Amino acid sequence: MLKISPLFSGSKGNCTLIQSGSVNVLLDAGFGYRATIKALQSRSLSPKDIDAIVVSHEHTDHVGAIPMWTRQTPTPIYAPKLITDLIRQRVYFSEVYDIDGSFCIGDISVDIFQCSHDAACCFGYKFTCGDGAFASVTDTGIVTDELTRFLYPCQAVMLESNHDEDMLKRGEYSYALKQRILSACGHLSNAQAAEVLRRLTGGNVKTVVLAHLSENNNTHELAFNSAVAALASCGAVEGKDVCVYVADQYNNEVTICLD
Ligand SMILES: [Zn+2]
Ligand SMILES: [Zn+2]
Repeated sequence: MLKISPLFSGSKGNCTLIQSGSVNVLLDAGFGYRATIKALQSRSLSPKDIDAIVVSHEHTDHVGAIPMWTRQTPTPIYAPKLITDLIRQRVYFSEVYDIDGSFCIGDISVDIFQCSHDAACCFGYKFTCGDGAFASVTDTGIVTDELTRFLYPCQAVMLESNHDEDMLKRGEYSYALKQRILSACGHLSNAQAAEVLRRLTGGNVKTVVLAHLSENNNTHELAFNSAVAALASCGAVEGKDVCVYVADQYNNEVTICLD
């Protein structure tokens, strides 16, 4: 059994709760510490109930709460091997473990995906428990066959749908920042996420969470409509064949259950 609850998602911070029934894992802790505690409390959890924090990469929107968290609670941290030295500089009383391949946290097995992102190292992850598999890939700039293969076996995926290209191009960001976001080491656009969804139709994926939306260069509606249109172009009906959720920066009520 796997239960997945996106807590915070977007440029201001990211954090997802993954529960197997015997272990509780946070994927990233990049939003405010207090808000994270509150979100856990509303799910009857406290920091000491979290068995591990798995870090995707070293950018602040993924690790911002870790200094405060590890000062209060010595939760083990798992991070890509190339960035564990960086993470250790921000950690107080926790052990930091290298990730350089598949590993297990209790009854959850974890596989890695190498993202294309302007970090020292960025991983997407697949969490498998029993027959349930969930993958999260955000902070990556290109759609590849390898990405499709990684996501394909999962029943649920969290996929970056960062920006609407037109909004980004017309927006107020500097030329350099626009180029960074649009580059192969930047973030997936709505159109790129839609391309991934087209490639996934007909497979196992029944639930899609669109994640890491830009507050300035995207809207929930644009991301959702782009995904639904992509599914429809492959004959899949949203709400029937595949459910699509858009993760919010601040408030997320949805919990996805995989048996
Ligand atoms: Zn990043
Ligand atoms: Zn990010």
